[in-house]
Amino acid sequence: MSQAKSYAALSATTPLAPFSFERRSLREDDVNIDILYCGVCHSDIHTAESDWGPSNYPIVPGHEIVGKVTEIGSKVSKYKVGDVVGVGCMVDSCQHCSHCSADLEQYCDNNPVGTYGAHDLIDGTLTYGGYSDHIVVREKFVLSIPEALDASKAAPLLCAGVTTFSPLRHYGVKAGDKIGILGMGGLGHMGVKLAKALGAEVTIFTRSENKIAEAKKQGADHVVVSTDDTQMQAVAMNFDFLLDTIPVQHDLNPYLNCLKVDGVHILVGLIEPMDPTVHAANLVLKRRILTGSLIGGIAETQEVLDFCAEHNIECDAEMINIQDINEAYKRMKKGDVKYRFIIDMKSLKN
Ligand code: NDP
Ligand code: ZN
Repeated sequence: MSQAKSYAALSATTPLAPFSFERRSLREDDVNIDILYCGVCHSDIHTAESDWGPSNYPIVPGHEIVGKVTEIGSKVSKYKVGDVVGVGCMVDSCQHCSHCSADLEQYCDNNPVGTYGAHDLIDGTLTYGGYSDHIVVREKFVLSIPEALDASKAAPLLCAGVTTFSPLRHYGVKAGDKIGILGMGGLGHMGVKLAKALGAEVTIFTRSENKIAEAKKQGADHVVVSTDDTQMQAVAMNFDFLLDTIPVQHDLNPYLNCLKVDGVHILVGLIEPMDPTVHAANLVLKRRILTGSLIGGIAETQEVLDFCAEHNIECDAEMINIQDINEAYKRMKKGDVKYRFIIDMKSLKN
C-alpha cells in the first residue's frame, strides 16, 4: 500500500478539500503512475455533487489523467518505467462479456469500473481518481500518450476526446455531413475539432455570443446562438447529426427540429431526468433518431490519442492549481471555461 495525497469531496454540499488515502499495492498486471496532469470534466462535478443520485463518498474526481510510469507489476509487458501514459474513465471491466470482447468495455454487461466512486472488482475497495499524486491501474486500462502530443494538453482526450470521437465514428460522420455541436465547453470544443478533421461541415450551437469568434477559430464553419429563435428557425431541417453536450436539462424540441429526415440527435451530456417534453411528432414525422453514447472503449481511446497526434489536434486548456478547483467548478457551471481546465498536479505538493 502507498499513501496518496488528493483533493476529495466528502459530501455533495462541501467543497473539495485535501484528503489522504491508501492506494493498493501493485498486482502483477498493475502499473503505478505519478500523475502530472488531470483534466476537469463536468462529470467530476456531477459526481462530486451527487447529481446522478448519491455518490460513494469520499469522491476523488478526475478521469482525464496523464502521468509517468514509476513502477510496474511482474507481468506488465506494455509499459516500462518512465513512459508517459494516460488513464481515462474506466479502470477495469469483466473482460469476458460480449461487449468487453468487442472492445466496448464501456458497455460491459457487468458494468465497467469507473476511475472514481466505483468498487474494485478484486478487493471491493473504492476507486479514487486523478486529483491525486499517483494512481495504480491495471495495464489493460492504461493508454499510451503519443510523443507528438503535448503531455500538458493531452489529458482531456481521455474523456472529452473519446466521448465525442466515439459517436462520430459509430455513426460514420464523414466529409460533407452537416453536424451541429450543442454547447461549447470541454466536450463541445473537442467535438468541433474532431468532426472537422473527419471532413464534416460543423456548426456550433452556443448560448454565448462571446464564443462566436472562438468557435470559428477552432474550425467551426458556422455558429448558431441557440437563445435566438430566429437563428434556430433559420437552420430548421438542416443537419444530419447533432452532438448534444449540454450538461443540464434542456428543451430538445427546437434542436430536433434542426435535423433532416433520418437525422440523428446524439446525447452525450448526461442529464437526469432528460427532457420529458419531447414531442413524438418531432421524431415520428421525420424518422429522426434520438440516441446517446457513453465514452469509448480502451482501443478507441488509444485511437483518438493517435488520431489527434496525427492531425495535430489539441485541447484548448486553462492550467490551474489544485487549490483553485472549487473556483473552477463554479466557473464551469457558468459556462466560463476556455475550454478545459487542466490541473497541474505538481501543485498538490504546495
Ligand atoms: P462543460 O461544462 O465543459 O461544457 C458544457 C457546455 O454546455 C457549456 O460550456 C455551455 O456551452 C453549455 N451549457 C452549460 N449550461 C447550459 C445551459 N444551462 N443551457 C444550455 N447550454 C449550457 O461540460 P463538459 O463538456 O465537460 O461535459 C458536458 C456533459 O457531458 C456533462 O453532462 C458531462 O457529465 C457529460 N459527459 C458525458 C460523457 C459520456 O460518456 N456520455 C463523458 C463525459 C462527460 P455554451 O456556453 O456554448 O452554451
Ligand atoms: Zn469526463
